[in-house]
Amino acid sequence: MAYDENNIFARILRGEIPCDKVFENEHVLAFRDINPQTPTHVLVIPKGAYVSSDDFAEKASDAEIAVFFRAVGQIARDLGLVAPGYRILANHGRDAHQEVPHFHLHVFGGKDLGRMIKPADK
Ligand code: AMP
Repeated sequence: MAYDENNIFARILRGEIPCDKVFENEHVLAFRDINPQTPTHVLVIPKGAYVSSDDFAEKASDAEIAVFFRAVGQIARDLGLVAPGYRILANHGRDAHQEVPHFHLHVFGGKDLGRMIKPADK
């Protein structure tokens, strides 16, 4: 799948649309989800043009991947989520209902999140 330069996160990265930023470095931007599913719900995105987790894992440089996952840890620490716990999640493609075609990790926290998969979901 080709990268869509006009997806909403590309526009946020270009500064065309505002975001509630919580973290930024040379490779990473993180901001609060506009429709939070939990008391804390942050999206962490690479600045590079990657469609999904699959695209990022295949094409990003080692430095981008390392900086990205170090940033996720830093963000969770900064948000006070390490002691109570948190969940990170990436949706890839149709079956996962990925809505925005720019790779992002969701960071959920701020309440008991329950078990990840209910027995009925298997
Ligand atoms: P996904 O289904 O994994 O692609 O999730 C996309 C997420 O992006 C959803 O949780 C949306 O609420 C969120 N979202 C969409 N537009 C914006 C925006 N302008 N600012 C912040 N979050 C957004």
